[in-house]
Amino acid sequence: MPTKKIVIIGGGYAGCKLAKALDAVASVTLIDGKDCFVHAPAAIRAVADNTLLDQLIIPYSNFLQQGQFVEGWVEQINSDGVILSDGRELKSDITVVATGSSYAAPFKHTRDGLDAFRKNSEQAASKVRQAKVIAIVGAGPVGTELAGEIACAYPDKEIHLITDEQSLYPMYNPSLAKKLQADFTALGVHLHTGKRVENLASLTEPYKGDITFAGGKTISADLVFPVIGSRPQTQLLAALTDVKFASDGRAEQDGWMRPSKSNPNLFVIGDALCAGDAMTIVAISRQVPWLVKTLKAVFNGKTVDSQKPYKPWVVAPILIPMGPKMGASVLPFGKKEMTVGHFMTSRLKGKDLFLSTYRKFFGSNE
Ligand SMILES: Cc1cc2nc3c(=O)[nH]c(=O)nc-3n(C[C@H](O)[C@H](O)[C@H](O)COP(=O)(O)OP(=O)(O)OC[C@H]3O[C@@H](n4cnc5c(N)ncnc54)[C@H](O)[C@@H]3O)c2cc1C
Repeated sequence: MPTKKIVIIGGGYAGCKLAKALDAVASVTLIDGKDCFVHAPAAIRAVADNTLLDQLIIPYSNFLQQGQFVEGWVEQINSDGVILSDGRELKSDITVVATGSSYAAPFKHTRDGLDAFRKNSEQAASKVRQAKVIAIVGAGPVGTELAGEIACAYPDKEIHLITDEQSLYPMYNPSLAKKLQADFTALGVHLHTGKRVENLASLTEPYKGDITFAGGKTISADLVFPVIGSRPQTQLLAALTDVKFASDGRAEQDGWMRPSKSNPNLFVIGDALCAGDAMTIVAISRQVPWLVKTLKAVFNGKTVDSQKPYKPWVVAPILIPMGPKMGASVLPFGKKEMTVGHFMTSRLKGKDLFLSTYRKFFGSNE
């Protein structure tokens, strides 16, 4: 029987993958405030095809063989475990904070629960159906995919995608932006680069209103989606006196994903962690194997510091579908990167959005 107790706070990508990978070698407790996993990449297409909601919300009940899932909100971390908002205390040898990030509605659940998440998604889908002019503010992956998904599902809508950056994805080879721009042209999406929106009325939910650029141009939109990035959820760590935060709100760490000198058995992973990665599942796919290896060494009596520190992606892969058949991606090969178009993007992500992979992971194959 595994003896080391590990408590993981947060059943998102990082927490769930870590819990499953350590299930056989430690006594794992995974805690989340809701009883189902939410697969965010499919929440974008759900705005154009709301039938996806039933597939992207997946119960946690079937995926741990030995470990336990506990439904509840963690209120406090201390040196020997955590305390939940209902007063329950759970002891641990190792605690991992995987509390992730929040995002503007309707793309991620909140503490209001899964019914509220469903309702937000259904309302957004209904507003998209009725809208003639849609403005999407923010052209990161969520904004780009959203514009593509709506344009593929509703070719007659007037869609504006707006970014204050001078080009799409300036951190990648320009061939990515070129391929995406060609898709936008084919789909009739109006791409506005280098345009700062002066009057965003909400950062947290879609609304009807005018969009005004610096310089005066106005778009009257039936629906405006603010999609300007993830906000790390690090309140639990902020309550610990010696944890520092980067300017984007993520927790700083010592090279081994530990945010607190006074609590060396506390780790942080995923969107809440500042380790040089973007806030993506792709980053988590690199972070989890590192933490699993490090913790297994610790369970075998080694010290954390004797293990190699974590190194982030140099060039992270990025997959940007636009509907099931279009879009573009960058795939790293060693230190080089290769930009690929429709065929690979559709095969790797666009067709299924990893829904079958995650449903299988959680033992939900129906
Ligand atoms: C619409 C959308 C699409 C995306 N698509 C992609 C994509 O295609 N590819 C990609 O690489 N990245 C994508 N991302 C980014 C990706 O979703 C995040 O990087 C990822 O969700 C982060 O995982 P995480 O485990 O760190 O945290 P999260 O997924 O945010 O999960 C954190 C969990 O912690 C729980 N929690 C928080 N606080 C507490 C508490 N106090 N007590 C108990 N539980 C708590 C929350 O309920 C939540 O379930 C997308 C993001 C969005 C918004």
